[in-house]
Amino acid sequence: MKRSSVLEKSPATSAGSTLEKLKQGVKHFQENTFEASRDLFESLAAGQKPHTLMITCADSRIRPNVITGSQAGDLFTLRNIANIVPPFADSGPADETAAVVEYAVEALRVEHIVIMGHTDCGGVKALLQPEKLSTLPTVSNWLSHAAGVADKCHCGCNSARRLEQAIRGNVLLQLQHLAAYPVVAAAVAEGRLQIHGWVYEIATGKVTYFQESAGEWRDLTE
Ligand SMILES: [Zn+2]
Repeated sequence: MKRSSVLEKSPATSAGSTLEKLKQGVKHFQENTFEASRDLFESLAAGQKPHTLMITCADSRIRPNVITGSQAGDLFTLRNIANIVPPFADSGPADETAAVVEYAVEALRVEHIVIMGHTDCGGVKALLQPEKLSTLPTVSNWLSHAAGVADKCHCGCNSARRLEQAIRGNVLLQLQHLAAYPVVAAAVAEGRLQIHGWVYEIATGKVTYFQESAGEWRDLTE
């Protein structure tokens, strides 16, 4: 009896139509987007020189290239649940985040690292309601790198305000972790790297950034 590979299994109806949608998307990309920027794509075939490492959430609603008007080749990107940068001290010899950061800073010589959180972040929401993680032990372990951001608010404010504060607090915590990576600390000290904390608002398209000198969040485009 022939064993079919997992990848070759005939998809169920819904999965089949989703796959068809993806194929049509590739066709549309090849016939339109690619053709419109053929010179750019051909030049990129020889290598990349991105100016920024973007660390953002894996959430499907976040499109870093679209949000920043960036082209292929502009952003080196790391995505995970809740845009977390685990403390360097916790990284093992094969740590993904440490490898991406090292490669971006030392090999690609990016000029900026942006950590971009977002409104309605499921990862940060789960920190506020840890009972929802009872069947997701791996996610729960991962989110332990953001533990504490849920406890910072003691003002008795409503849940929406509390979530917003936790989302911003998480970006600041991950910035602290990032700044302590030896390659980052060295490049910042040399004046060739800047690190930034942003929050993207899904419902409005607004992006705010943390202005360290003022100690507050401001509209990025004002
Ligand atoms: Zn998220």
